[in-house]
Amino acid sequence: MDELVALCKRRGFIYQSAEIYGGLQGVYDYGPLGVELKNNLKSAWWQSMVYENDDIEGLDASILTKSMVLDYSGHTETFSDPMVDCKSCGQRFREDQVPEYCKKEDLTEPRQFNLMFKTNVGPVDDESSYAYLRPETAQQIFTNFKNIVDSTSRNLPFGIAQIGKAFRNEITPRNFIFRVREFEQMELEYFVAPGDDEAAHSSWVQKRLKWWEKQGVPIETIELYEVPTDELAHYSKKTVDLMYKFPHGLEELEGIANRTDFDLGSHSKKQNELNINAKVKLNKDSNSKLTIKNNDDVMVVPFVIEPSAGVERGMLAVLNEAFTIESLPDNKSRIVLKLKPHLAPIKAAIIPLKKNDKNLVNLAKKIRSSLQELGLGRIILENTGNIGKNYRKQDEIGTPLCITVDFETLENNSVTLRDRDSMKQIRINIKDLEKTFMEKIK
Ligand code: ATP
Repeated sequence: MDELVALCKRRGFIYQSAEIYGGLQGVYDYGPLGVELKNNLKSAWWQSMVYENDDIEGLDASILTKSMVLDYSGHTETFSDPMVDCKSCGQRFREDQVPEYCKKEDLTEPRQFNLMFKTNVGPVDDESSYAYLRPETAQQIFTNFKNIVDSTSRNLPFGIAQIGKAFRNEITPRNFIFRVREFEQMELEYFVAPGDDEAAHSSWVQKRLKWWEKQGVPIETIELYEVPTDELAHYSKKTVDLMYKFPHGLEELEGIANRTDFDLGSHSKKQNELNINAKVKLNKDSNSKLTIKNNDDVMVVPFVIEPSAGVERGMLAVLNEAFTIESLPDNKSRIVLKLKPHLAPIKAAIIPLKKNDKNLVNLAKKIRSSLQELGLGRIILENTGNIGKNYRKQDEIGTPLCITVDFETLENNSVTLRDRDSMKQIRINIKDLEKTFMEKIK
């Protein structure tokens, strides 16, 4: 973990937020490479959900959440963790995460601590004007259910996907970007007819494992953990967590929950007419029945399967899998991030062999622009004149290809293409460059 954290800082992936003021605990900023990696991971998720399936719609809903939404969803009452204070070291911990150096007899009795961030909306600072920063992206998917069904004429089964920020005032944020207070979730709510939920749940577990494999997190590195009944969240009938061996231990990367008809049932009016399975609080405020026609033309409250993944935990897993230290001849070694090309922050570096040589640099710039125009991600020019250093740096940040423009290029239009993983170099003609680049990057 320490080496990964150091690399992330040194090369501009991840910085501590407000570092110049001593940092803000549990909050991180994503630098020039971090933002690219994050965007690439989110885009891979979006493509696999919204574009590759023909029955999933996208949504980008607000972060500020009306308190009523979280009252009926059960979050105001139950979205809390038990915390204890250690009378000896003065620190506060989640009851299940007390470090070994604290002795049991020094701990206070556990108290519930709500994890939601409350904030004021509008100029009046009173009890009626507060809202929350959403603790999960899911709730606005449920509150928009009717809007989306009405505007897209969807039938069951269908899903709504959303990527966005979520906020939790974690008692003990830790392990770099694993447990933070501000993070992003990639959530799908997949609505099915009651009775079809269990098969859909199993199917989504398998689909999600395959997706992680494509991001460079092999199936063998993930363990499935079925959450025991007494530990299930209040809305869940069954949850399977994808547990990944992070540098600090085996922990949840993604959770796949069968949320039953709890959420749509909770946010509906006239619940007594709806044959809701889950135990829901009486809703006196909603103006809508969150129902949809089933195959027999009967209006039902669908069940929902939710694969919910954290972007930051995903990045950490992807970086951890990619991070490699390789021995080279002469007792040398190199660090290389073997990221899948579609996730790599920089797709190719164009390197003029000699710094400031006008002919070489101009040609390198031309190549950079032409590859950039393909729209496959960021291409950069490396004009430092130290080819060895350039290769080392590009290996460390996971750039799949380095393209070197040298004096031979000026004579015969060929450039050197260096592959990150094999370090093999081939010469190809500039006219074949776009095609080769596209094949290697896709
Ligand atoms: P944990 O048990 O680790 O606190 P959780 O079960 O509360 O996680 P969910 O509510 O299922 O998490 O959230 C879905 C996903 O969102 C998680 O699998 C994780 O990837 C991500 N996530 C949740 N909380 C955090 C956090 N504090 N920091 C980073 N990612 C998070």
